[in-house]
Amino acid sequence: MLTLNDRRAIVTGSTSGIGAAMAAALAKAGCAVMMNGFGGADDIEQARAALAAETGGDIRYHAADMRDPTAIVGLIDAANEAFGGVDILLNNAGIQHVAPIEDFPVDQWNDILAVNLSASFHTIRQVLPAMRERGWGRIINTASVQGLIGSVDKAAYVAAKHGLVGLTKVVALEAAGSGVTCNAICPGSTQTPLVQAQIERYAQQQGVDLETAAQERLAAKQPSQTSVRTEDIGALAVFLCCDAAEQITGTSLPIDGGWTAQ
Ligand code: NAD
Repeated sequence: MLTLNDRRAIVTGSTSGIGAAMAAALAKAGCAVMMNGFGGADDIEQARAALAAETGGDIRYHAADMRDPTAIVGLIDAANEAFGGVDILLNNAGIQHVAPIEDFPVDQWNDILAVNLSASFHTIRQVLPAMRERGWGRIINTASVQGLIGSVDKAAYVAAKHGLVGLTKVVALEAAGSGVTCNAICPGSTQTPLVQAQIERYAQQQGVDLETAAQERLAAKQPSQTSVRTEDIGALAVFLCCDAAEQITGTSLPIDGGWTAQ
């Protein structure tokens, strides 16, 4: 197993799905982790305490709303205060809304751009200088296959994820040679609450049960016809953080069962 002993990480949107798996993978590899995301206070505390007990690591939580630049300053300050610095930043918080562009609610557009794109600008601009100074850092942005190709009814999400892929390249170039890398991970369909809402919408539209809906959606897009496992995305993040990955930067890595090979 790869180890990242004593590295200090922030994982945004880690109270659920892919982010929770990334936080667990980093904690198991030896990192202190600052979790973030929405959810019930008791559930979040239970998850935090369970991960701390399982790994013996320093696991914290900060409730910053990633739509709010001021709250994001608070998140970074809290991590710096708790850990004495941030070595690994995983920008993962994300939301989705599905509608044709002419019906796309303006507030949904604004929220999706804020959480899925602008939040990463706000976190990166605050952690990069100290990473550069220390000569080591890892920034990983959870983009999507939708950061590489388009899909109908996902104007805001596709625009934000394409933007995140572009931001990843710029940060990689600006950090090149400093020991800091910046990459995007581009998952295909992964069974999480974010996708479950789309499966339910499809099932309703097509008049099929949820299992059929999940299978038909995969069959249409993901050649492996199998959902990506969240823990495999966590393992990819850990690999990108290890020293063997120091020359991997500016990339957008699909983990998508062949979706983008078509
Ligand atoms: P999820 O709904 O399970 O998790 C999303 C996380 O983001 C949660 O912890 C949630 O609380 C948090 N979040 C949402 N809005 C927030 C806000 N304003 N402030 C702070 N936290 C907020 O979804 P997921 O599928 O695990 O998604 C994680 C990331 O992976 C997202 O960026 C998503 O776009 C991306 N992604 C998901 C899939 C998939 O198939 N599930 C595929 C490609 C990319």
